[in-house]
Amino acid sequence: MPRFGFDNTYVRDLPAAWISRRPLAVPAPRLLFANHPLADELSLPAGTLEGPDAAALFTGNLLPDDAEPIAQAYAGHQFGHFSPQLGDGRALLLGEVVDRHGRRRDIAFKGSGRTPFSRGGDGKAAVGPMLREALIGEAMHALGIPTTRALAVAATGERVFRDTPLPGAVLTRVAASHLRVGTFQYFAARGDLEMLARLADYTIARHDPQLAGAPDRHLGLLRAVAGRQAQLIAQWMNVGFIHGVMNTDNMALSGETIDYGPCAFMEAYDPATVFSSIDHHGRYAYANQPAIAQWNLARFAETLLPLMASPDDEPAMARAVADATAVIDEFPGLLDAALRAGQREKLGLADATADDLATDAALADDWLALLQSQRVDFTLAWRHLAIAADGRREPLRDLFLDRAALDTWLARWQARCDRSADPAASRADRMRRASPAVIPRNHLVEEALDAATEGDLSPFEALMAALRSPWDEAALQTRYGAPAPSEVTEGYRTF
Ligand code: AMP
Ligand code: MG
Ligand code: MG
Repeated sequence: MPRFGFDNTYVRDLPAAWISRRPLAVPAPRLLFANHPLADELSLPAGTLEGPDAAALFTGNLLPDDAEPIAQAYAGHQFGHFSPQLGDGRALLLGEVVDRHGRRRDIAFKGSGRTPFSRGGDGKAAVGPMLREALIGEAMHALGIPTTRALAVAATGERVFRDTPLPGAVLTRVAASHLRVGTFQYFAARGDLEMLARLADYTIARHDPQLAGAPDRHLGLLRAVAGRQAQLIAQWMNVGFIHGVMNTDNMALSGETIDYGPCAFMEAYDPATVFSSIDHHGRYAYANQPAIAQWNLARFAETLLPLMASPDDEPAMARAVADATAVIDEFPGLLDAALRAGQREKLGLADATADDLATDAALADDWLALLQSQRVDFTLAWRHLAIAADGRREPLRDLFLDRAALDTWLARWQARCDRSADPAASRADRMRRASPAVIPRNHLVEEALDAATEGDLSPFEALMAALRSPWDEAALQTRYGAPAPSEVTEGYRTF
């Protein structure tokens, strides 16, 4: 078998954080999706994704010679309730490679069979959800949003039992790391300070090497993780993405979006949008994402406190709590600044001065209120605003029922653009680069996954191709740029 050039720091440096396990053999491997550009980025041996062994390799029937498959331990708050032990119940880390750009990346399986962390689960995954993760991950990547990505999805030839029997699959996931808030919670819950300290130094070496060795590095790590989450969630919000299950075990310290389960993109703008059928109270609704991220960061901060000060030294601990609290308290402002900066790019007003910030925020809020009250498609509205900056307002006006209200807002926006310092000629193009024409629309994703589950991959492949070019305005004239008929979107649920 090939060697992937693995260099497994996690296995070497954190022996108490994993259990060695091999993937379960599967009866009839068949490759469904192969990510050639990503394989190239990872410098995998030529032919890895095409060769006769590819399907066996990406289901785990065969392993790269240098793989050291392990299940990672972690804990987590799920919907606010703490579980001291979750861990990889159906995932295995094969190893780490250093990519063409010098970035260390994890290569892991998802759906490769039971592990000591499986609890009641079967350790398996179905074709539909694994292809969904591949689709949404590639869409996010094309949108410029940090994300884990699928290297491959392979069918196993086995049935997995959910509500009904479904074809099984293994996804091969590439991530900057699989370190989560929940990884820290695992050792904090055990009171294992020695491992917690090693984990912190490991995380710093991997994601924030400039902090290595600094006496205040744990506070620095908290600040760095908070900064990445602020950027990430602002980016989610500005494309209408709803993660759906922001448990602390699904928040990556790298700042990548991870664990695409019941996620979806909002169509008509409504901040209360929830897609997940298991999220009964709307904990992870669109507009709650900043507050939930802050809550998760507070849980992360709690795990770092015993590293920041000895629990016996009361004054030192009080200072540590105050320092960590300050970072958590700053987070909403950080996120808001990132969100507003993204909105200004979408409004074509990126070069705002300090005096403009409040005006522009009000302009954005009033725009969103207009979209909400008239149930206008979020993606189309923003993209057509960019087109309106080119002088073509009719396609935008066609999205609104109350055009007088839109025209009033447009007059304000135009006046603000006219006194903006940034060049008017390039405004529409700058706006186009901030507002995609194509997002993974729920009805198209469902259609593609249903067909794939029945054995027809062509809708999946066509949708994947469209999602890889999200800025392409010509797509607005195709079904990939169009919203669902309204009867399809009402009450849409992921699972
Ligand atoms: P998630 O909701 O996907 O973030 O997963 C939460 C926890 O459930 C993690 O510990 C997963 O490994 C575990 N898990 C999810 N699905 C399965 C499954 N089919 N079999 C075993 N464990 C699972
Ligand atoms: Mg998870
Ligand atoms: Mg999951």
